[in-house]
Amino acid sequence: MPGKTPVIAMVAAGVFGVAAGGWPVVTSGLGGDSGPSMRTQLASVLDDQRWATPKPGSWTMPKPAANGLPPVINHIETQERVVFLTIDDGYTYDSEFVNLVRKEKVPILTFLTSTYIKGQGQYFWAMRNAGSQMENHTVTHPNMATLSAESQKKEICDSSDAIQKQYGRRPQVFRPPFGSYNQTTLQAAKDCGIKSVLLWSAEFYNGTSGPGVGYNGFARGDGGKGFKPGDIILMHYRKGLAQEFQMILGWIRQAGFRPAAVENYLPRSLGGNAPDQPSHA
Ligand SMILES: [Zn+2]
Repeated sequence: MPGKTPVIAMVAAGVFGVAAGGWPVVTSGLGGDSGPSMRTQLASVLDDQRWATPKPGSWTMPKPAANGLPPVINHIETQERVVFLTIDDGYTYDSEFVNLVRKEKVPILTFLTSTYIKGQGQYFWAMRNAGSQMENHTVTHPNMATLSAESQKKEICDSSDAIQKQYGRRPQVFRPPFGSYNQTTLQAAKDCGIKSVLLWSAEFYNGTSGPGVGYNGFARGDGGKGFKPGDIILMHYRKGLAQEFQMILGWIRQAGFRPAAVENYLPRSLGGNAPDQPSHA
């Protein structure tokens, strides 16, 4: 297979170039006739990043929905003092943040609004390389529940297509903007290859003000205070994210919690990495 080794070497050089402070060039090698095989090899290079898996028996595996549509998940039932950091949108970016994520080795799940890939693809490539999977947050960030079935499907499928093309893996988890969805959204998501819908149980209003909690405030959906095991925390790519990230990391550690990778708590059938429980059929 002539040509295979040079391709891998080139991709690896691009990936590891980030660590040396340079930005890899993402788009030049992708697409065209050699696209799919290139992407397969790219995925295998990136596959090295592994986050700790939960202790067997320490958590309850989220279940598929009875109607066959992607289940909607807003927290994980677990006995471990873990929380899950998820960061949305991608409209603004902070290169210091990527350095911090790499240095602190913190698992982040990114929900990318794919219009922002244009021009900023390399930033999220660096995030991907720091171990953040790129999941689906639509193309243009609409209120999904107000759209037709056709428009909803286009928002989800086109975003998955763009993310797959750029980052070598098709998103399997979807987060609707504003947490707004209906049954049509779930069907559209399924049609686009989405396995589960991930909402959140708490929000860190990093770089902005939240109702009743002020600037850089933290609010639980259940009205309580502080962290609870299995919280899925919503944040946003905003200016100043590096500092805000240090802030919440400090709170998490002070409370005796640690950030964990939510994808490792979801079974493969729901878009995660955990083995599915054996069926008793
Ligand atoms: Zn959003």
